Amino acid sequence: MPFIRLFGRYLREQGLPVTQQREAVAEVVFSSSAHLSVDDIEQQLRRSGQRIGKATIYRTLDLLVGSHLAEEHDFGEGFKRYEHRLSRQPVHEHLICMECGTVTEFRSEEVAIVESRVAQDYGFRPSRHRLEIYGLCKDCQEAGAKLPDRGLTCPIETV
Ligand SMILES: [Zn+2]
Ligand SMILES: [Zn+2]
Repeated sequence: MPFIRLFGRYLREQGLPVTQQREAVAEVVFSSSAHLSVDDIEQQLRRSGQRIGKATIYRTLDLLVGSHLAEEHDFGEGFKRYEHRLSRQPVHEHLICMECGTVTEFRSEEVAIVESRVAQDYGFRPSRHRLEIYGLCKDCQEAGAKLPDRGLTCPIETV
């Protein structure tokens, strides 16, 4: 897998050993298009007969984020999720359901246009952006879920 080789190169550049455990954790992230929690990763490793401690998984994920091969997300669930950055959709935004936790990805040309216009207006050179929309997915709305009525609040404080 080419991404594993890239990760190995990054580890060597950092003077860190390329271990089988680190490669196994990276492989789980690279072979998934989901937004994985540490628990998800631990379970997948266990299913393939590998027992790798949480501390090693956390450390490897930090290294993956540092290598820019994976991205860290905090969707306000009290834990982080990790995603392969070189997936089919390298640039995408997220819709997060506050009821069931489903994360839906979407692409938007308009967001790219806003980013470049704002960059121009402020003389800012963007490197990446993050857009997260919190609310209720279609299924949860149909099942009768309601948004807490707190008026306009900062979504970071709400979730
Ligand atoms: Zn939902
Ligand atoms: Zn995503």
